[in-house]
Amino acid sequence: MTDSPFDLSGKVALVTGGNRGLGLGLALGLARVGADIVIACRDMAKAAEAVAEIEATGRRVMAVACDVTSEASAQQAVAEAATAMGGLHILVNNAGTSCRFLPQDVPEAEWDRVMNTNIKGAFLMSKAAHPHMKKSGVGKVINISSMYAIFGGAVDSAYATSKGGLVQYTKVCAIAWAGDNIQVNAILPGWFVTELTASYLADFPAQEAKINARTPAGRWGRPEDLAGTAVFLASHASDYITGASIAVDGGFSISD
Ligand code: NDP
Repeated sequence: MTDSPFDLSGKVALVTGGNRGLGLGLALGLARVGADIVIACRDMAKAAEAVAEIEATGRRVMAVACDVTSEASAQQAVAEAATAMGGLHILVNNAGTSCRFLPQDVPEAEWDRVMNTNIKGAFLMSKAAHPHMKKSGVGKVINISSMYAIFGGAVDSAYATSKGGLVQYTKVCAIAWAGDNIQVNAILPGWFVTELTASYLADFPAQEAKINARTPAGRWGRPEDLAGTAVFLASHASDYITGASIAVDGGFSISD
């Protein structure tokens, strides 16, 4: 324990989708400033690799099987995590997915898959985590939205709708849970190199250079670029910030 307002020693953080991509970067960032980590995801082989990587920070780390689209699974995962770790103080709703269709072409099953993962998943995990945070007297929820909460995209109807909804859900929970000393904020990542965007670039290869050109930072983000904002939003340093959405995008959203 240090005097730093960013110190997360003694805190337990659950990161959905923490087994790869941005979620793994977020989990590593929180662990490096003292948080014990629970990864919640479906692919447990990938989770085991991530646990080994995070354990190198010296923190306690565990993985729980979780499908965020199922209330039973969300409740089970949160209960298992809180019991094993002795509480739950930080929830990062990072699990997400996308599909690309024009609005008139989106198959119902794809719409439901994206909505159920990106928005219902955050709802179910937050609902499951709330009693544990309330009991401990402190709580931080960090919702990983997207700059598609700001922009539209012709083929991003389900994704952009879910991410815009997540910003609104962030505000609702921030107001409802302020009296429980739980702060709820969102991060809007710009373009980051992960498996999710690899499939996008496979479909639209010219976008890589176009995005670099528009981004004042001149490059795509790396998973570790999100960690500082997550640490801030998970720590006492942000106790008077709630319901906010913070862009972490190298300046993409303010550029023309
Ligand atoms: P990846 O596709 O690399 O990872 C997605 C993660 O979500 C995996 O860990 C996956 O684990 C988990 N996941 C998906 N569905 C479920 C489910 N039903 N239950 C539990 N876990 C699930 O994506 P990224 O790392 O790129 O994205 C992470 C988040 O960041 C997403 O919310 C995404 O929308 C957002 N984002 C990403 C951007 C980018 O440029 N990469 C930009 C803006 C936002 P498993 O399959 O094992 O369950």
